[in-house]
Amino acid sequence: MSNLATTRPFRVAIIGAGPAGVYAADILTKSQEVRDGHLEVSIDLFEAHPAPYGLIRYGVAPDHPRIKGIVGALHKVLDRGDIRFLGNVTYGRDLTLSDFREFYDAVIFSTGAIKDAALQIPGVELEGSFGGADFVSWYDGHPDVPREWPLEAKEIAVLGNGNVALDVARMLSKHADDLLVTEIPDNVYQRLKTSPVTDVHIFGRRGPAQVKFTPLELRELSHSKDVDIVLYPEDFEFDAASDEAVRTNNQIKTMVNTLTNWLAEEPEHAQHPASRRLHLHFLHSPVEITGTDGKVSGITFERMELDGTGRARGTGSFVEYPVQAVSRAIGYFGSELPEVGFDEQRGVIPNEGGRVLDADGTAVPGVYATGWIKRGPVGLIGSTKGDALETIGYLLEDRLNLPKAQHPDEQAIVDLLESRGVEYTTWEGWLALDAHETALGAAFVSDAAPGRKAADDGGTGDGGTGDGGTAASNTAASDPAAEDAAQRAAVIRQRIKVVPREEMVHISRRRS
Ligand code: NAP
Repeated sequence: MSNLATTRPFRVAIIGAGPAGVYAADILTKSQEVRDGHLEVSIDLFEAHPAPYGLIRYGVAPDHPRIKGIVGALHKVLDRGDIRFLGNVTYGRDLTLSDFREFYDAVIFSTGAIKDAALQIPGVELEGSFGGADFVSWYDGHPDVPREWPLEAKEIAVLGNGNVALDVARMLSKHADDLLVTEIPDNVYQRLKTSPVTDVHIFGRRGPAQVKFTPLELRELSHSKDVDIVLYPEDFEFDAASDEAVRTNNQIKTMVNTLTNWLAEEPEHAQHPASRRLHLHFLHSPVEITGTDGKVSGITFERMELDGTGRARGTGSFVEYPVQAVSRAIGYFGSELPEVGFDEQRGVIPNEGGRVLDADGTAVPGVYATGWIKRGPVGLIGSTKGDALETIGYLLEDRLNLPKAQHPDEQAIVDLLESRGVEYTTWEGWLALDAHETALGAAFVSDAAPGRKAADDGGTGDGGTGDGGTAASNTAASDPAAEDAAQRAAVIRQRIKVVPREEMVHISRRRS
């Protein structure tokens, strides 16, 4: 039995309240040691944003309610009351590692990866070339990115064959009105609505059997209304490794089937062409983004061929596409954190199974990592559970030999934050913000009512019988503003996200 159990709870700080951090906290509270009563834990979950959920709030596309549904599970964990949420606290600025070590027995980093991986090709700096992660942050209403996003391109290239490329391409090609029902911020809806885009091209550098998509996410592409999917027979190359992958990997088999079916169905589009197209290209490796007057005007690829092992090699043949914007969705990359090491190659904190290592490769007592900052930005959200299990396993193994916190009192860290003027947010504050955003979504329908009322007042003769839909659509035929109002009247929005950080903090702290 732990000595600590007889004296005080074991204090743990987790830095980052995305899925990785919440899973780690949950797994620790449900560990055998805790359930047997051998260990009492007291966990504080810190988050740089005023709201919890990390990449689920700021990384998952708004039209992915299935994944957003994970929020429900994370909410349940945090709502139990045995894990304390402290938001709007930035590691390295508001609290240092030395602070954490003074106030906690153990610290777990679960800060994830939010930056775009770098693509080193000429022209990458041109206006109109943008990181996929940055675009995701924009459409997800991240408080720390500019609110304006220029969407002037008719033809856009999206580089990469992962799920982020799918999200970015789907959001760029979908008609804005089909997103209104989601939680997209209003400025995002308004901007997407003005987009002149007609063609979005996704480019993968390998073949259809080497995509990093997942089957459901790929199939979702075909659910966008008035968007045709276009494929090219010459891109459908399968080497021995591809055949083996199709034979042995169900996911690959399903996706190759989906792609080949779309290729076969394509001639049907010719009869009723959509107003937008989403092209899927394979075996294209980007070599240069070309520009005119500092702005993207095209992109050149080397055509690739498979080498028998599933890798691709250049053919020496090049092709250029006229595009006015390029989104690089070739993977995320972790960010370096003060006072801990950083692996520049992999974008992770150097660690062994979650035990953080110093420059000599020795484990730093009491410091751990989990999630994408531990293993790199790969894998679906659920994979971070396995990570957390491993990290928590080591933490429990080490716990009796860790340096003890000097100020383990739960109030002590709050006093420190207050003495430093940090406007931290709490779980109750999040509940208030959550309710506020949901209410904004519900109120959106009544916002549209004036449009409907104007139509009624316009003497349509329905005498206010409540047939607002007919009245609105009659007026909409001649008045774009009324059309917009009619569209808005027809949807009930899940929520409308509050974007400015100060406003999020203000609403969260009003009732804290
Ligand atoms: P990813 O799955 O690793 O895909 C990155 C893609 O970029 C790969 O196709 C890769 O090709 C390509 N790439 C890398 N370097 C390149 C270069 N220099 N030139 C051209 N192409 C290059 O990364 P991700 O899309 O950022 O996704 C990260 C993780 O989040 C994944 O596990 C993903 O499934 C998950 N995620 C899931 C969802 C969802 O809805 N379920 C949504 C978003 C993200 P190679 O294969 O040839 O290296």
